[in-house]
Amino acid sequence: MSARIRPDLESIPAYAPGRSRPGAVKLASNESTPGPLPTVAKAIAEAAELANRYPDNMASELRAAVAEFHGVDVANVAIGCGSVALCQELVQITCAAATDEVLFAWRSFEAYPIVTQVGNARAVQVPLTEEFAHDLDAMAAAVTEHTKLIFVCNPNNPTGTAYGRADLERFLDAVPEHVLVVLDEAYYEYLRLPDDHPNGVEMGRGRSNVLVLRTFSKAYGLAGLRVGYAVGAPEVITALLKVHIPFSVNRLAQAAAIASLEAREELLDRTEHVAAERDRMRAALLDAGYVVPRSEANFVWLPLGERSAEFGEASAEAGIIVRPYGVDGVRVTAGDPHENDLFLAFATAPETTARFLG
Ligand SMILES: *Cc1c(COP(=O)(O)O)cnc(C)c1O
Repeated sequence: MSARIRPDLESIPAYAPGRSRPGAVKLASNESTPGPLPTVAKAIAEAAELANRYPDNMASELRAAVAEFHGVDVANVAIGCGSVALCQELVQITCAAATDEVLFAWRSFEAYPIVTQVGNARAVQVPLTEEFAHDLDAMAAAVTEHTKLIFVCNPNNPTGTAYGRADLERFLDAVPEHVLVVLDEAYYEYLRLPDDHPNGVEMGRGRSNVLVLRTFSKAYGLAGLRVGYAVGAPEVITALLKVHIPFSVNRLAQAAAIASLEAREELLDRTEHVAAERDRMRAALLDAGYVVPRSEANFVWLPLGERSAEFGEASAEAGIIVRPYGVDGVRVTAGDPHENDLFLAFATAPETTARFLG
């Protein structure tokens, strides 16, 4: 007989990481393609020499660097073992009763339903609009007396859609001040909205119920080291520190994040190429007849419905791993130009379009 585990865990959708396969091009996990910059690699190597010592549990130096970067106080910053850990901690600090609700758009980031259920709270999912964007009005209308936490993913993973500042502020105005709103900006650095730039940290100034999540995993290229951060009101940050798993942000991650912030100009320059590739991919796919919402992130979304899984298989057979999502669609990361070309060659080939767009 095996040990008794919470029976409700059986219904938790298992987190399905992007697959990989030897020799295949991986456009499945929204990673950045280039490895760490030399200065970052050096910081990692130096930190590794102290691997026998615990890391700084408060991540003081990194918090100070993030605070300076955003022009906020250290008391406004919490560090997490990836921003996904912060998502889980946010449920822990807001939800205590089984009737407590966590509200988010669907489809959105895979982790939201999981961290909600792990936290014994109730997920309230509001369908995306027909344009694959958050339905902000419907989300505001779905707030109840039980709502404790709202995740807004901007740009949205996996559809790439994003709102500008005015739309988001209208939403924030409509949400009661006692409900914590999390602006998950994992793809912030890829936003190229012409105007009305939605910087959550700016929107959060003067709104104590708004918290922003950013990560070093995407544009900063440190997905393998697991480090992200939250910027919010000191009371919320203090609560996050209470539920933080001690020492879960390791020494290498802290050192690499500090070095990456120092090298940010060079790293953020890279996002220009990625944004251009994403736009190029979208244009080619539109040309071939696909529906592709405008993306403000480092990936494109193909709403292929029932054919999503089959498309994912066919793409893998052609040597490119992409990410199918149930019966909703397929997310394709913008990688290096030659990788994207391989994918486009597959996706726009007459056999492929005949099979999937017929
Ligand atoms: C990738 C991603 C994250 C965070 O990733 P970490 O690697 O845990 O920092 C958070 N939110 C969204 C929407 C993401 O796509």
